[in-house]
Amino acid sequence: MLTNNLGYPRVGANRELKKACEQYWAGKITRHQLFLSAKDLREQHWRLQEAAGIDLIPCNDFSFYDHVLDMSLLLGAIPLRYAPVVTDIRGNAEIDLYFAMARGYQRDGLDITAMEMTKWFDTNYHYIVPEFSAGQTFKVFSQKLYNECSATKAVLGRAPKPVLIGPVSYLLLGKEKEKGFDRIDLIKKLVPVYIEILNKLKDDYKVDWVQLDEPFLSLDLTDVQKKAFRYAYEEIRNKCPHLKVMLASYFEGLGDNVQLACSLPVCALHIDLVRAPQQLEEVIQALPPKVSLSLGVVDGRNIWKNDYHHSSTLIQKSLEKLGDDRVFVAPSCSLLHTPFDLDKETAIAPEIRNWMAFAKQKLTEVVHLKRIVQGETALLDENQAALTNRRTSPLIHKDAVKQRISAIREDDTHRKSVFAVRQQLQNARFGLPLFPTTTIGSFPQTDEIRQLRARLKKGELTLRQYDMAIESATIEAIRWQEQIGLDVLVHGEFERNDMVEYFGEHLEGFLFTQYGWVQSYGSRCVKPPVIYGDVSRTGDITVRWSRYAQEQTSRMMKGMLTGPVTILQWSFVRDDQPRAVTTNQIALAIRDEVVALESAGIRMIQIDEPAIREGLPLRKKDWAAYLDWAVRAFRLSASGVKDETQIHTHMCYSEFNDIIEHIAAMDADVITIETSRSQMELLEAFADFKYPNEIGPGVYDIHSPRIPHAEEMEALLEKAVALLPARNLWVNPDCGLKTRKWPETKQALINMVQAARMMRERVTV
Ligand code: GLN
Ligand code: ZN
Repeated sequence: MLTNNLGYPRVGANRELKKACEQYWAGKITRHQLFLSAKDLREQHWRLQEAAGIDLIPCNDFSFYDHVLDMSLLLGAIPLRYAPVVTDIRGNAEIDLYFAMARGYQRDGLDITAMEMTKWFDTNYHYIVPEFSAGQTFKVFSQKLYNECSATKAVLGRAPKPVLIGPVSYLLLGKEKEKGFDRIDLIKKLVPVYIEILNKLKDDYKVDWVQLDEPFLSLDLTDVQKKAFRYAYEEIRNKCPHLKVMLASYFEGLGDNVQLACSLPVCALHIDLVRAPQQLEEVIQALPPKVSLSLGVVDGRNIWKNDYHHSSTLIQKSLEKLGDDRVFVAPSCSLLHTPFDLDKETAIAPEIRNWMAFAKQKLTEVVHLKRIVQGETALLDENQAALTNRRTSPLIHKDAVKQRISAIREDDTHRKSVFAVRQQLQNARFGLPLFPTTTIGSFPQTDEIRQLRARLKKGELTLRQYDMAIESATIEAIRWQEQIGLDVLVHGEFERNDMVEYFGEHLEGFLFTQYGWVQSYGSRCVKPPVIYGDVSRTGDITVRWSRYAQEQTSRMMKGMLTGPVTILQWSFVRDDQPRAVTTNQIALAIRDEVVALESAGIRMIQIDEPAIREGLPLRKKDWAAYLDWAVRAFRLSASGVKDETQIHTHMCYSEFNDIIEHIAAMDADVITIETSRSQMELLEAFADFKYPNEIGPGVYDIHSPRIPHAEEMEALLEKAVALLPARNLWVNPDCGLKTRKWPETKQALINMVQAARMMRERVTV
């Protein structure tokens, strides 16, 4: 029975890689220094896995930016526009080409855009999307994989298990950049390059095992995609007969791909038994003789201690059917999605910390599980004691919260009247012009604003001083919004560090780590809160700032909240109850806040749900159930107010075509969405559906410092008017302005107000 790890977090316990990369980009350290710090991290991580007792230690799971981009460089899938970065005399090395692909290149008179980035399955990790052309060819380009293989071998004294994204998933992760071909048809050109690589790993680097990640095996596949799997793996088996291939699936069960996955000629199959424990039996049945099974029993996506009893039962069952030499014990997926080391978290209450495990602890869990099934039951007892403590702890379980959840009635999940009635009441109450203008909530978080929080934390400012500074930033933003003529104002969110953290800090059941960083993209890391217990609201959260802001102006001030699904989605969540239940608890807390805002005189309240789409399950068959509870939770949070109180919601980077009816079912009075990059393309879904409620399609792309002209925004609005009734349209940016600078924000919003005025002159209803 071998212990197997699929991948380790790479940024380092103190985000060393993030810092080194950023310093290199800023020209503050040399390439050599960057490489040294990477080498140091890799070695630490290999030694750590060795010391924990992991038999199959991955290599090439390290990446300076993203492992999918590494694959593009390995396979020579380098878009033509980057040619000038390497083929000149600028002294660039491969790593500079690599960063140029990830981040764009604006130097030496060149201006080359970055490659697209998108979410890695249902995680909050973002990968760089491979670009394919019709005449795409592949050819080994980067030597990184080989270098890491020999480096690991030098450190460990034995061959590591190189990790590559498998050929089918690599193609499916990419995008056709030209019309007239399907990227899956590139498989015949791609597989020979894989074969060359795999043979070289075997012959020159003497590796025994290679892990090929094929996460698409857990998704719905077409017949052509299934055929590509068969073709690729048969070719690999025929042309690399002596290499042991481990095929890794994760993030979901194999579902209807069980037969396919089990029929591919490989030496081992890895399955995710955290997300889909029920698949074990069927996979064991379908597995051909001699093929080994890697059991992903330790959760690679969350921070809770493993249930040794549950996991060892699964292992035991497999051992009985398959025998000792065909069973591996492993985390469910790469540990990339978990923070580094729980031991550093000295501020977490010891009782709660004893329920948790980060990446480093998860390695130990894998090894413990092996030892338990081999007879060391003392390990089991200790683990079960911690779990029992968690199951029964009063820190987690609040009767009042549970009672409220079971008392939710159908009536609590919808507004008193239908939208048409509410709209009339609201129109009469607000008297807004056509094309009312507003923004999404945040204004630039300048260094000064961030400094205020840092100084408050360090004790250099008193709370009163901090509040006064935030007050004056708020007043200034309000005056300025009045002056340029925005119709509905926001307070600017200057008091918030982060849209989830701010709420978590004010709710019971949440905790915050000191070092729980997880890579989000490139050098960007996030520190998700941990929802450990029943969630409740112990007092007002945003009322103080919203009321203060409304008192400063006679115009409408929007209250600004984060929605329950987004709070859930961007946190580490409880694994001891369904996500839907946790979401409902958060929804009730937000509902109370909505009602409190209304009582404080706030007449429009926005509940942001940018993460609602990214929560969609990987398999289409599971969508309906998710959308059902997610939409219900939003409605629960929004429905406690009177008809004449206007509920807004906001979503960004959303494709709505396939979920538009559920967006409509949220029944927000106004929805603002990101549409400017797609030139209002997204609105067609709303038009086709005859979306009845009010809608603010973004006309200002806030992801770029570029200032749009009034005419440009007018043209976008023109498109919107062609698709939807003018009386339902709002005018706003794509998203919050937190990441922008003031000068460009000001000019862009002045132009936006101008665009709305021009529309009003021409359009009447
Ligand atoms: N109200 C938030 C803001 O303006 C919304 C952010 C988001 O959608 N991600 O920053
Ligand atoms: Zn947004």
